[in-house]
Amino acid sequence: MEKVFLKPERDYSVRHRHPWIFSGAVRNVTGSPAAGETVEVADSSGETLGYGSWSPASQIRVRMMSFDASVVPDDAFVGGLVAAAVGRRAGFLVDGRTNAFRLVHGESDGLPGVVADYYNGWVVTQFASAGAERWKSVIVDAIMQYVPFCKGVYNRSDVDARSREGLREGNGQAADETGVLAGGEPPELIEMFEDGVRYLVDVRKGHKTGFYLDQRDARASVARYANGADMLNCFAYTGGFGLAARAAGAQSVIQLDISRSSLDLARKNEDLDHLCGTKMEYMAADVFKELRLYRDKGMSFDLIVLDPPKFADTKGQLMRAMRGYKDINLLAMKLLRPNGVLATFSCSGAMTPEMFLTVCREAAFDAKRCFQVLERTGQAPDHPVSLSFPEGLYLKGLILRAQ
Ligand code: SAH
Repeated sequence: MEKVFLKPERDYSVRHRHPWIFSGAVRNVTGSPAAGETVEVADSSGETLGYGSWSPASQIRVRMMSFDASVVPDDAFVGGLVAAAVGRRAGFLVDGRTNAFRLVHGESDGLPGVVADYYNGWVVTQFASAGAERWKSVIVDAIMQYVPFCKGVYNRSDVDARSREGLREGNGQAADETGVLAGGEPPELIEMFEDGVRYLVDVRKGHKTGFYLDQRDARASVARYANGADMLNCFAYTGGFGLAARAAGAQSVIQLDISRSSLDLARKNEDLDHLCGTKMEYMAADVFKELRLYRDKGMSFDLIVLDPPKFADTKGQLMRAMRGYKDINLLAMKLLRPNGVLATFSCSGAMTPEMFLTVCREAAFDAKRCFQVLERTGQAPDHPVSLSFPEGLYLKGLILRAQ
C-alpha cells in the first residue's frame, strides 16, 4: 500500500479524527496511487495515523476511512460501516412517522462522499468522491443486504463535486452516474409519507436524491404555526412546507417557485391527500421579484417560509450570498402581519449559524420591525453532524415572530 507522509505539525486534525487531509498538508507520497485507492497516512516521523482514500485531482487529497493503524479498510470493514449506519436509523423504520429518511450521511457516518436515502423501499445513492466511487459496489451490496426489504438501489451521482474529484472527463457528465445499481427499476414517482402527509418523489430528475429530507423537522415546526394562517411558501419545490401547513389547518397557501415542473409535482401532491378547507395557489415566479410585487400590492401573510437554494458554495461567494439572503428576508419581514411568523433557512455550508442570525438581524433593522426567535432549526437527525467534522453542518433555520 502506498504511504502518505504529512508535513511536520500537520497531523493535528487527523489525530482529532477530522476526515479531510488537504493537499497543502501532504509532504510526499510513495509511488503514485490511483484515484480512490486506499493509502496509509503517517505523520512526518512515519507513525501511522490511519488509512484513507486518495483523491489526486482534489484539494481534499485524502478522505480518512480508518483512524486506527491496525484497521485497514477492506470489504468487510466498509460493509460494516453501512450496516452500522443503517442500524442507527432503525428507529425511523419503526416509529411510523415517515417512510423516507437518510441512511448514510457521508463523513458523519464514516463514509466520506457517500449518501444513501431511503424512499419507501427504494434506496437512492450519491457517490461524490474518488474513494466513494472505489467502494461503490461493496456499499451497494451492503445496502441490499442490510436494508430490510430493499427493492433496489438507484444511482443519482450526477453531482458537480465529481468534476472536482476528477471523476468526469472535461466538464461532461458521465453516462454511468445515474441508473439502477441493484434490484429493480424504481417507479417513475415513488410515493412516501411524512407526518401524515403524502408526497410523490421523482428520484430520477428531482433535486438531490429527490426530496429535501433534511427539512423534515423544520416542516413539523412550521406546521405548528399554520392553523388558520394565510401562508406564503417561497422556494416551494414540490410543496413540502405548504402541504405540511395545509395538513395543520392553514387557511390559504401560495406555493411559489421558479420551476414549473416542481410546482406540477406539488399540485399532484396536493391531490394525494383529500383535505379541503385550505385554498391552494401555485405561482411560478422569481421570489426576488414576486416579493416586491406583493409589497407593492400591499399584500400580507401570517406565515412565510423562505427556503432558498444554496446561494454560496464557497467562502468567496459569501458576500454576494449574504446580500441575497438579506434582500429576501427584508422583503418577507415587511409582508408579515402583526404576530406573523417567518421561517427562514440557509443551506449554504459556508454560512455559519451566527452569520445567518446577523443577516436576519440586519434585515429586521432595515424592515424597522422587532422579532422574537421562537426556534432555531437544523438538519434532521438522519443527517447527523460528527463532532469532529463541523463542515457537516450546512442547514440552519430560524423561526421568527414579528412583534
Ligand atoms: N422548501 C423545499 C425545498 C426548496 S429547494 C422543500 O422543503 O422541499 C429550492 C427551490 O428554490 C427549488 O425548487 C428551485 O426551483 C427554487 N428556486 C431557485 N431560485 C429561485 C428563485 N429565484 N425564485 C423562485 N424559486 C427559486
